[in-house]
Amino acid sequence: MSSTVGKVIRCKAAVAWEAGKPLVIEDVEVAPPQAMEVRVKIVVTALCHTDVYFWEAKGQTPVFPRIFGHEAAGIVESVGEGVTELKPGDHVLPVFTGECKECRHCKSEESNMCDLLRINTDRGVMLNDGKSRFSINGKPIYHFVGTSTFSQYSVIHVGCLAKINPAAPMDKVCILSCGVSTGLGATLNVAKPPKGSTVAIFGLGAVGLSAAEGARIAGASRIIGVDLNPKRFDEAKKFGVTEFVNPKDHHKPVQEVLAEMTDGGVDRSVECTGSVNAMISAFECVHDGWGVAVLVGVPNKDDAFKTHPMNFLNEKTLKGTFFGNYKPRTDLPNVVEMYMRKELELEKFITHEVCLSEINKAFDYMLKGESLRCIIRMDG
Ligand code: NAD
Ligand code: ZN
Repeated sequence: MSSTVGKVIRCKAAVAWEAGKPLVIEDVEVAPPQAMEVRVKIVVTALCHTDVYFWEAKGQTPVFPRIFGHEAAGIVESVGEGVTELKPGDHVLPVFTGECKECRHCKSEESNMCDLLRINTDRGVMLNDGKSRFSINGKPIYHFVGTSTFSQYSVIHVGCLAKINPAAPMDKVCILSCGVSTGLGATLNVAKPPKGSTVAIFGLGAVGLSAAEGARIAGASRIIGVDLNPKRFDEAKKFGVTEFVNPKDHHKPVQEVLAEMTDGGVDRSVECTGSVNAMISAFECVHDGWGVAVLVGVPNKDDAFKTHPMNFLNEKTLKGTFFGNYKPRTDLPNVVEMYMRKELELEKFITHEVCLSEINKAFDYMLKGESLRCIIRMDG
């Protein structure tokens, strides 16, 4: 690898030229890393809903041409000036939100919302010089959430890279760099269900099933899955979900159905849908006195959360979380170790696999609702 240090690397990348149009595999030039940056050889990446959402560009400022991708694992090729924590050969997980380790958030034990490197979906350039490190024939191709992992090489801020155990299989732990950690952390770090408690999970996609995995690990005795799509229930059994409720099967609000099933309400609920109605139900279905609801789903722009304030006086608690409250650099290596100790299963999330040249298939699987996670091997 050392022969490429300081030089431009030419490699393959899947470029999104226009919103909603199939990605095109192109030869791109990847510039060397500047101060506090790292150039990473991406080994495997996965497709997450957030990539699809920004590729469709229906609600946000479109930034094109762009290289998407943010759930991945790779190997450090070279480091820029000032990078001391990483060296060539280290195995890393890129993360869409960073940890500078110096701001008020990074210094607070309670927060993971770094001032410098918090997710920014509008920025398509590096912080150091406001420019892109990707180009085709001199024309810049923009970055996505500081990761752009649909390229065989990417340049990433050191604060957005978690150094992990080199023995960890990258084609499994890559999914910890976004969705799975988000759901898992929502339960383990924020909802914190006591052993033997009852937990309701709203939305049984990859994030909700990871939240269910968290409830199983915490020792919950009942895990109730709530989803509008009955197809999700079969898969969810593999994730320790013990009971299922489809709001469409009932005439009364789902919070009332859950209250009847649980003698007054669940101990904890985790909402992973993005639907504001599910968010309200997830809050109102927790038990008076001790119930805690955690919101994870990203709502629509104009949504408003409406509930009677009496619910708070009755000692129901409402919380929300970003990336499962994990600090990317400090905490992700430990989540990888949970997998290595076999406390956490990742294989069951990976339902599909393609190589880089077939990346558009991964989009099809997700758009049709067939995949939980499709991984993309970057060498072919
Ligand atoms: P997904 O689309 O795979 O799963 C969502 C599930 O919710 C689907 O099965 C759908 O049928 C179900 N659903 C929708 N409306 C419902 C309702 N009213 N009641 C019950 N079920 C309903 O999505 P995912 O990838 O698992 O992500 C889930 C959410 O988490 C998304 O909103 C995503 O944007 C968000 N997310 C948040 C963070 C964070 O840090 N807070 C990080 C990643 C993803
Ligand atoms: Zn910070």
